[in-house]
Amino acid sequence: MLKIDNYINGELLPAKESQYLDNYNPATGEVYSQVADSTASDLDDAISAATEAYPKWSRSSNEERCALLLRLANEVAKHSEPLAKAESQDTGKPFGLAMRVDIPRAASNLQFFAHAITQYSSQSHSMGDLGLNYTLRDPLGTVACISPWNLPLYLFTWKIAPALAAGNCVIAKPSEITPMTAFLFSKICHKIGVPKGVLSILHGSGAGIGAKICSHDAVKAISFTGGTKTGASIASEVAPSFKKVSLELGGKNPCLVFADAHLEQVAEQVVKAAFTNQGQICLCASRIYVEESVYPEFSELLVNKVRNLKVGDPLEPSMDMGSLISSSHLQKVQSYVNTAIAEGAEVLVGGSKIELGGRCVGGSFYEPTILANVDQKSCVNQEEIFGPVVTLQSFRGEAEALSLANDSKYGLSATVWSQDVGRCHRVAKGLEAGIVWVNSWMLRDLRTPFGGYKSSGLGREGGLEALNFFTQSKNVCIKY
Ligand code: NAD
Repeated sequence: MLKIDNYINGELLPAKESQYLDNYNPATGEVYSQVADSTASDLDDAISAATEAYPKWSRSSNEERCALLLRLANEVAKHSEPLAKAESQDTGKPFGLAMRVDIPRAASNLQFFAHAITQYSSQSHSMGDLGLNYTLRDPLGTVACISPWNLPLYLFTWKIAPALAAGNCVIAKPSEITPMTAFLFSKICHKIGVPKGVLSILHGSGAGIGAKICSHDAVKAISFTGGTKTGASIASEVAPSFKKVSLELGGKNPCLVFADAHLEQVAEQVVKAAFTNQGQICLCASRIYVEESVYPEFSELLVNKVRNLKVGDPLEPSMDMGSLISSSHLQKVQSYVNTAIAEGAEVLVGGSKIELGGRCVGGSFYEPTILANVDQKSCVNQEEIFGPVVTLQSFRGEAEALSLANDSKYGLSATVWSQDVGRCHRVAKGLEAGIVWVNSWMLRDLRTPFGGYKSSGLGREGGLEALNFFTQSKNVCIKY
């Protein structure tokens, strides 16, 4: 069976202690490869390689690092099809979605930070006749990039690109549940000759090698994307070592539909916002609040559109949704739906596992689900389900809309649908979220800061913020 090996010091290497984990295709339930479960000795090798590579890499010119990242971007774009296939196989998401979104975005992450570093500048401050200050920004050394399973290559490149562009050496750990695209990426690195030690990709479990990477003394910063509980545990573990930490965590994102919105078009977009990638995007809308006067009409539009979604084999081009990430995740999703029903909720559509035949007989397919009459304080409205389950509720006026939307420990994203420009600005200002989309969803300008309020994260990634995170500033003050 195919073995997914580590990438250390420019080479693809088996796990030193020969430990491997099964890698499942969630759409079929079958184990189709085995992934290295790295241990401390693999990490030691990666750290030694990074330490050796750092002096030269950190002093390379911005143009050299830009050129390398652009070559990686081109190779990713050139290998879109096998990468998208691997992504679909690992995650259960439709192949077409991976081709349209995940892989192109991975290439553009690399491209974006390749160019960004050539435009990155620091400041100088004149003190008149007294002197001059200027700020240098130095890379940090060896940094860790830890990414989740839902958008595997997209988020992996989102982290490693700015870290490498800024001149750091990177130890990256993809999710052990979806390691295949990072493995193919390591082959690309090998092929184009990424300098040895500049990037190492260590596979394995979060509690095992993930925690070891974070606590290693040589690791100066951690860029983490994943669940809020994991983020809290990393933050508390590494706090005494004063490492820089950036945490991109979970969400429970509100979507506010006002009566003056174009309801038919909005329903179409809300379906995308709620159910793309089987609802397994941290930015998916999961709490849909609709102004009372249009609630019946909007609810009907939404339910009808959801009924038309096709869920099935991710390799079939006509499918809108594929499999959830695993059978255990499906059980978690089902348990929230069961809780809602037990609490008196109404299932407007969905609510059950889908049993498929053929090659997908062992897959984890779930109906896109809308729940109504869920109490605002229920765990179903307060906890991240991270699946194709949303709640639908009505509100009266802007003040109530904001109060319901902000009634959450999370604050990652929010969407507002209205034709009233003034209201859009007012509501966007009042929402406690790191990104607010008005009359859109998932539109991203990579220059903008990205991150969450409250328990959705700490620090900001995207644009210059990411380059600032992966560097440290030093002020030089010269007295005339
Ligand atoms: P997770 O927290 O279980 O794992 C994320 C990564 O961290 C994996 O690589 C895992 O192996 C590793 N890990 C686990 N425990 C660790 C530890 N103790 N030390 C170091 N590393 C450890 O999250 P997941 O289930 O893979 O991803 C889903 C979560 O990610 C959801 O909550 C989702 O909202 C969140 N997410 C957030 C964003 C964002 O930008 N805010 C983007 C995507 C996903």
